[in-house]
Amino acid sequence: MKNDVVIIGAGHAGGMTAISLRQQKYQGSITLIGEENFLPYQRPALSKGFLAGEIEEKRLYLKSQDYFDKNNINIIRNCEVVAIDRNNKTVSLENQKQLGYEQLIIATGSIVNKLKTSSRVTDLYYLRTIGDSLKIREKLRNKNKITIIGAGYIGLEIASIAIKKNLEVNMVELENRVMGRVVSSEVSNFFQNKHQSEGVEFKFNASVIDIEDQGKQKRIICSDGSFFNTDVVVIGIGIQPNIELAKSSGLACDNGILVDENGQTSDPYIYAVGDCSNHPNNIFKQRLRLESVQNAAEQAKSIAASIAGSHKPYQEVPWFWSDQYNIKLQIAGISQDHDHRVIRGFPEEEKFSVFYQKEKRLIAVDAINSPKEFMVGKKWIAMQAKVPFDLIPNMDVDLKIIESL
Ligand code: FAD
Repeated sequence: MKNDVVIIGAGHAGGMTAISLRQQKYQGSITLIGEENFLPYQRPALSKGFLAGEIEEKRLYLKSQDYFDKNNINIIRNCEVVAIDRNNKTVSLENQKQLGYEQLIIATGSIVNKLKTSSRVTDLYYLRTIGDSLKIREKLRNKNKITIIGAGYIGLEIASIAIKKNLEVNMVELENRVMGRVVSSEVSNFFQNKHQSEGVEFKFNASVIDIEDQGKQKRIICSDGSFFNTDVVVIGIGIQPNIELAKSSGLACDNGILVDENGQTSDPYIYAVGDCSNHPNNIFKQRLRLESVQNAAEQAKSIAASIAGSHKPYQEVPWFWSDQYNIKLQIAGISQDHDHRVIRGFPEEEKFSVFYQKEKRLIAVDAINSPKEFMVGKKWIAMQAKVPFDLIPNMDVDLKIIESL
């Protein structure tokens, strides 16, 4: 059977590509194949409101089954694509069937990094899917002490919910601060203090080398020889782009599937979108592989435009958010290479932002309960603006005035 468009992976990016194609009046046939048994859904709430039991499952879905039926988008659920044959332009499914394509979109997302243990340990939890979130939610309901390995944003969000549910929370982190990969030490310190004031205990510079079953508990063993027991373990130690299918079909990959600004891979009939792709960004003049909803949604629109016959190269300022307790962190841009940074606002009032500069240009903003700073900063980054940095910390000077200078 020949399909005009086949999409592998019915997650955020795959789902958004199908939806965007129809929004852009694409008339061809679309088949979306997903390994999970769900309609395409949004993952952010899995470590936030859905985990807390405050958001219903149906609110996670990008669209209803009715929408996909009405828009003639064929979804094959619960089915893994096991191979791509680029010569014959077909994909093979786990049930031995084959589907032909005119254009193929790879939207296979990420896979979580797993922690190796010397023996088989039951009940170690990772968080990527609705099923994972439901299992962790259940544990938060009936356990007393949770240990979270990895103090990235997912681990911290789980910690904030576990605290609300009155659990004792320990976090073990390899580095010396939280979210060390993405934010500056000022932002890390702020979040560490916030979590500590809520009751979280941290163990930094600690590498977990093993976990053992100890009756009903787990024993966490660290490389310095220390160990402690806990009721439940959740592991959030990063993800890898899911590129095995692409690699084995010979597509160019390097930290993700390499695509151009239209999402096209080294094969002109194949695109890649979302977490699994690595794209050029002309604002940052470098290739980026992003793990965010914005990237999944915006790149999807760009690919849909290419396939539907218009042209919308993907050139966006990356942005991201995280919710922990009453704190909303919004990040615009990429701060890693900054040479100077300033703070605006008041950390002690839980309302401040960090502006990052490189060679006199604004490259990133981390905004804590500061939506205005986030919005203005994002705009300035897109403009590649040279802003008078020395004025930013002065709260008496409005950002609009700074912009006009
Ligand atoms: P996914 O949504 O992971 O979808 C990929 C899909 O492909 C999966 O369903 C997978 O099963 C399927 N698949 C893989 N291989 C195959 C195959 N061979 N055959 C068939 N199907 C296959 N981003 C934010 O911007 N803000 C947040 O606050 C935020 N919070 C998050 C919280 C959690 C707990 C998680 C897990 C992620 C969060 N993210 C957040 C990240 C965001 O959800 C991802 O960047 C986004 O889902 C990426 O979309 P994707 O389609 O590339 O990958």
